[in-house]
Amino acid sequence: MTMFTEEHEVLRRETRRFAERVVAPIAQDLYNEEAEIPMEIIRQMAQMGYFAMAIPEEYGGLGMDNLAVVIVTEELSKAWLSVGSVMTRTLIAGGLILAGGTEEQKERWLPGIAAGELLPAAAFTEPNHGSDTAGMRLRATKKDDKTYVLNGQKTWITFANRAHIMTVLARTDPDLSKRHKGLSMFVVEKEPGDGFMPPQLMGERIPTIGYHGMKSFSLSFNDLEVPADNLIGLEEGKGFYQLMSVYETARIQTAARAVGVAQAALEAAIRYSQEREQFGKPISEFQAIRHKLAYMATKVEAGRQLTYYAAARKDEGKRADLEAGMAKLFCADMVEYVTSEAVQIHGGYGYALEYPVSRYWRDGRVFRIFEGTSEIQATVIAKRLLS
Ligand SMILES: Cc1cc2nc3c(=O)[nH]c(=O)nc-3n(C[C@H](O)[C@H](O)[C@H](O)COP(=O)(O)OP(=O)(O)OC[C@H]3O[C@@H](n4cnc5c(N)ncnc54)[C@H](O)[C@@H]3O)c2cc1C
Repeated sequence: MTMFTEEHEVLRRETRRFAERVVAPIAQDLYNEEAEIPMEIIRQMAQMGYFAMAIPEEYGGLGMDNLAVVIVTEELSKAWLSVGSVMTRTLIAGGLILAGGTEEQKERWLPGIAAGELLPAAAFTEPNHGSDTAGMRLRATKKDDKTYVLNGQKTWITFANRAHIMTVLARTDPDLSKRHKGLSMFVVEKEPGDGFMPPQLMGERIPTIGYHGMKSFSLSFNDLEVPADNLIGLEEGKGFYQLMSVYETARIQTAARAVGVAQAALEAAIRYSQEREQFGKPISEFQAIRHKLAYMATKVEAGRQLTYYAAARKDEGKRADLEAGMAKLFCADMVEYVTSEAVQIHGGYGYALEYPVSRYWRDGRVFRIFEGTSEIQATVIAKRLLS
């Protein structure tokens, strides 16, 4: 691809080496144990600069472009989706503070995020408000000039236990008819740990079929006090707009995560089809299997190119919401198809926990649900087309 520089290629080689040597060898066993990503890996990711990529140099970051983020995400997610997904939280928190924060807030949090010393979680979804972001209810009440008090529930908050900070979307205007105009974004600081901060902040794990390596939680906020200085931008009512502004980057990165998982499934399927023999020959000799591989590879490449294109447009400073949405929508379908076909090519072994394709399949299913469901994504794309 001509859109990549020599620096991009070096970054890809280095990340692939890290992913293949450090992440991939331990991913399958830890996944099946439902263990979390070892802190040592997160520490090494910090050393490699992965959390600093999208943060400008003046705030301790590396100031790299979206194509670089996509490359790293693809390679890490190919080894283990959850490892590529730790970066998502950094991108969201960093993006929110960078785009909407005051100078003091940027200087306060961005260097820590870039160094991997402040690990973030993103707390937006609520039990009764998922796709309907504008309807969120978690309440932030101003106690005095210095403090807000948070009350309500969030759910599906991934990595909340290990995070040092959470970006929390909360309602500062009690008038529900104000919808998105009544929402504000806060940075909630916390100690990492499964115990959370009872009774002000309680967390309960949600068991899942996949995406192991990170845990997701239902969170209860009970009179949790947050300094007024932690309101991003120090202005109420901007939270929804701040969130929408980072979704573009987040969707491109999520599409890249899907490409990584799908590429892993494709490579596993190619390898297996050449090793497995039936009727006296490798199953790769059968046309039915060959066609499967051809369709899988074509779809992975189409998803990859859509993702690169969206990232490149954004790097050129062009509007990329449509392209980011299309990349996310397409790649979510693509990864579900490709991982399912990879299981099929493995026959019964594809259903065994021992084989990584069983992991890719379970991980591949989540893409149509998180970071905006496919139905919502399609609705947003259609709205743009028809406007
Ligand atoms: C593994 C995992 C990790 C997650 N991590 C996080 C996280 O870290 N932070 C966070 O905030 N959230 C997280 N989420 C939550 C995720 O973003 C939501 O699940 C998602 O936004 C959908 O919301 P919902 O589950 O409430 O579904 P709902 O909004 O209730 O949707 C249910 C179904 O109805 C459809 N639907 C809803 N409205 C419409 C409409 N207007 N038109 C057509 N169809 C519609 C949806 O597409 C879906 O098919 C995570 C979810 C999962 C599964």
